[in-house]
Parts: sequence; structure tokens; C-alpha cells
Amino acid sequence: MRRFEDLIRKRQACDLYRDYSTRTGVMGAEIEIEGRTYLNFSSNDYLGLAGDPRIADAAISAIQRYGIGSGSAHLIVGHTDEHQRLEQELAQWLGTERALLFSTGYMANMGIINALIEPKGHVFEDALNHASLLDGGLLSRGRMIRWPHRDIEALRQLMQGCDPSRSLIVTDGVFSMDGDTAPLKALAELARETQTLLMIDDAHGIGVLGAQGRGCVEQAGLTFHDVPIIMGTLGKAFGVFGAFVAGSDTLIDFLVQRARTYIYTTAPPPALAAAARAALRLVVEESWRRDHLMSLIKYFRHNATALGLALGASETPIQPLLCGDSRRALMISRQLAQQGIWVTPIRPPTVPEGSARLRISLSAAHQKEHIDQLLSALSQCLRVDESVQTDKPRQQE
Ligand SMILES: *Cc1c(COP(=O)(O)O)cnc(C)c1O
Repeated sequence: MRRFEDLIRKRQACDLYRDYSTRTGVMGAEIEIEGRTYLNFSSNDYLGLAGDPRIADAAISAIQRYGIGSGSAHLIVGHTDEHQRLEQELAQWLGTERALLFSTGYMANMGIINALIEPKGHVFEDALNHASLLDGGLLSRGRMIRWPHRDIEALRQLMQGCDPSRSLIVTDGVFSMDGDTAPLKALAELARETQTLLMIDDAHGIGVLGAQGRGCVEQAGLTFHDVPIIMGTLGKAFGVFGAFVAGSDTLIDFLVQRARTYIYTTAPPPALAAAARAALRLVVEESWRRDHLMSLIKYFRHNATALGLALGASETPIQPLLCGDSRRALMISRQLAQQGIWVTPIRPPTVPEGSARLRISLSAAHQKEHIDQLLSALSQCLRVDESVQTDKPRQQE
């Protein structure tokens, strides 16, 4: 146990110790944690659907029809008509030939990359890609090469001499800790020029970006012909759980043969598929959620900038507030909690050394008044700790 204790103590000593709190009740703009109510700026529930009673009802009614367990893997007898319909509806919505469900986004990424990359192949990844994409690259039989964040020219250089027919370019659509988006048009252009397969992980874009909420691909004016592998999750904007990959018939057929995290695992409960179908209907029909969210993002950025806050270059619901060192991020987060506002600090190794931050995430469940409360609490905290402001000289770290 000594070696475990050492790591734990080391993390505690440099403010990198991770812990979790226990929430009670439903997800929403307000959450209850250990007996106290907080304004919630920490979820990925971008459209405010996680607590929607219509989605819960769809799940309840499916449980009454199917029971809870799927009973086996998809390829045995676990694949029900609810799973099947969800896959068809997702593909139709995204304009792809087919879609395939995975239990989680993490598993989807691991499974897709491993299935596609042969020995001697190369997986090219943006340096700030999600951990699940990086793990997929590391565990694949090929070599993973990371390109500097959003730098297409650097990627082009790195690709020289690699066999494109064995390679894969992978990027987050929206970067999960920074909220900025991939230069998808340029990536698609490079992929087309070099005849390399391109994959997007649109965990934070699906449901949120694009006029119809179809994500980064729609927002960039592209289709699955440009981005042949589109991975999305159902646990963020959809407010449910699970993930999918969408693309051509052949791609999906291939993944069914080869993706180990699809093949060797129990299919999700049919009720989850039923819930995701209900969520998809709301994502499509209630476009006011996206409109409202976008106006909240503008409102937040406008007023935060006026306060001199160090925001990143993000037009998405993920709005990081850079703090620099971990202690400062932790301290501000605690002060906000004392004022009834929950914003999770994100520290290394999740983000690079020296870039600890508060990851503020906005949701269609918020009202303008909630943003006002957040901003006023932030400006109070910053009066205590002025070094988070951009227009003041940064302290030596
Ligand atoms: C959350 C996330 C995942 C993992 O999805 P889960 O369904 O939560 O496992 C994958 N990629 C990105 C970019 C994410 O933000």
C-alpha cells in the first residue's frame, strides 16, 4: 500500500488531489450537493435535457416493456428493436448511411481506432484530444503522433513519409477543456488531398452546434463524405448515456467485425436506447434550446470580458477561466462554492502544467439571472485574487 499512499500524498501536497462530491436529486441549473443547493456550472448537460421528464418517461415505459437488462452483447441477442431504431434515426438525422451504438464514448474511441489501425499504421492526433482518443492511439498496434493544437501545417509536415492508406487523422470537434473547435474544413481538405481517413470526436458538438444541432460537421458546412467517421456521445447534450459512430455502410460493417469494445461487451439497456430516441426528438424539435444557449454564451462572454476575465477563444458552452496554478484554481472554486456556485477546477494532468482553470459550462437550463449571479460571484473572488485578470501583469508562477 505504501506506493499508493505515496502518490496520494504527493498529489495532496501540490494541490492535484482529486476527490468527488455526492449529488442528490435531478440534474439541472441548480443541483443539490451534500444538503446544499448550488447554481451548477459544471455539467455537460448543454441543452438541459438530463432531467427532462419526457425522456425519463420514455425510459420508464421501455423498462416496463423490456425489463432493465439487455441480457447479452449486441452480436448475440442483446440488440433490440429500440437499439435498431435509435441507430437508424441517428444515421438519418446526420445524413450518414448507418450508425452503430457503443456503451460509452470512451469505448467507442478505443474500439474505432483499434479496429482501423494495423501494424505499421499511424494515428495522428491533435495534442489536446480527449484522453479516450489518446488512449485509443496508444493501445493501437500503430504509432501515435500528436500534432501541435490546431496547427494544420505542422500536421502536414508530420504526415510526410507515412502511408496514408494505413493512417488515420483524429480530432476532437470541440476541445473538452478549452471549448475551441477544430479547423475541420482545413483538416478535411488535407485528408482529401492526402487520401487519409479523417475521424471527428464530436462529444461536445453534437446537439449543440450547427443550425440543426448536427455538430461541428454541419457547422463547417461539411458532410460525412468529407468527414467519414463521426463519433458522438449521448451523455452530454442528449442528457442520456452512451455513444455512437456514424458513417458509411462499409465503415459500420467493418467495425461490427473488428471493434472489440463493441463486440465483447453487454449491449446497453434497451431503455437507454428508448431514452436517447426521445432525447433526439427534443434535440431536433426544440431548437430554442440551442438559440437560448447561444445567447447565454454571448451574454456571458460580453460581460466577463468587461470584467477583464481571462477567457479562452471559445464560442461554445465550455468557457474556461485560466487560473495558472492549481492552488489558485482550487481556491477560487472553493470561494465560489461558499457563495452557492459550483464550478469544477480542472488541473494537470487533465490540462497542461501551469494551465489549471475553472471550466465553466453553460446550459440551456440556465437563465440570464444565473449568469449574472456567476459573474458577480466571480468578480468578488477576483477582488481577492486579482492575478486571474488578463489586463494586469501575470504574477511569476
Ligand atoms: C466525454 C467525452 C468522451 C467520452 O464519452 P463518454 O460517453 O462519457 O465515455 C469522449 N470524447 C470526448 C471529447 C469527450 O468529451
